[in-house]
Amino acid sequence: MITAKARAVDGPDKTFRAAEIKRRDLDSHDVLIEIKYAGICHSDIHTAHGEWGPVHYPLVPGHEIAGIVTSVGPEVTKFKIGDRAGVGCMVDSCGECQNCRNGEEQYCLKGKVDTYASVDKYGEPTQGGYSTHIVVPEDFVLKIPDNIELDVAAPLLCAGITTYSPLNHWGAGPGKKVAVVGMGGLGHMAVQIAHAMGAEVTVLSQTLNKKQDGLQLGASHYYATSDPETFEKLTESFDLIINTVSAKINMDAYLELLTLDGTLVNVGAPAEPLSLSAMNLIGHRRSFAGSMIGGIRETQEMLDFCAKHNITPRIEVISADQIDEAYQRVLASDVKYRFVIDISTM
Ligand SMILES: [Zn+2]
Ligand SMILES: [Zn+2]
Repeated sequence: MITAKARAVDGPDKTFRAAEIKRRDLDSHDVLIEIKYAGICHSDIHTAHGEWGPVHYPLVPGHEIAGIVTSVGPEVTKFKIGDRAGVGCMVDSCGECQNCRNGEEQYCLKGKVDTYASVDKYGEPTQGGYSTHIVVPEDFVLKIPDNIELDVAAPLLCAGITTYSPLNHWGAGPGKKVAVVGMGGLGHMAVQIAHAMGAEVTVLSQTLNKKQDGLQLGASHYYATSDPETFEKLTESFDLIINTVSAKINMDAYLELLTLDGTLVNVGAPAEPLSLSAMNLIGHRRSFAGSMIGGIRETQEMLDFCAKHNITPRIEVISADQIDEAYQRVLASDVKYRFVIDISTM
């Protein structure tokens, strides 16, 4: 057993405390990673607060993990000591179902093993990246390209792949008009990736506060959704809309912005059910869709794509003692655009 230092919460309304957690001894295909940086994702907050169902406490969140390989199991072939490595939202899956065989492990028919708040094949609760070390099967570890620093690599493992995968799947590229709803951690990645894919990008944000950033990151247009004229002006404009907002929004107003055969993809996850008018789909053969992270192969492809196009998230690095404060600021949308914990401060 390996003892790792961590930051844990003991209940839905508790603050973080220093903790020690056990990491298993390396199995034949396991990799031990010394974590250098861990991003703070909105999902961490939902889970820590118990908003997505019952949670096994104490909980160590964190599924945007970047570090260095410090030990490998005897049969590991993909990694060696010293490699730069990343771990995202999942650490295992059945490996045998149709979806796993197709490289879509996130949709494993037997259920993927989440990086935290899940149960692994040994029957142990999984604990995430707000810790100094993690043990993960090599098939769920990503290679971080040399030209991406580890602090900015961390958020790519969730925010990056969550936006890359639907942009890739629904064919964002030259000649396509893509709208990104929300200019937060996910949105500011979607803008950069869609732009690099060659699409014409528009940001739809509540206000124009982050307009300059949006344009700098690659958007051609930027509109405030608080202005009703925006929706009139942009009717039937977009081939693809990526909705990154996890608050409830008026779906019909956004569906009307899609062209014939356009698709609105949800990657933000509101807690309450949504409503929409079927006529808004029928009239223009539109699709209403969702997408969850991406498979391991696609996550590697995303990292290599970001390296090639110099795409990195904008981050604010914090110490381990600032997690509670960071959560408050994420909830207040007061972050540009991702908090990343410097694990050396643990
Ligand atoms: Zn996440
Ligand atoms: Zn499977």
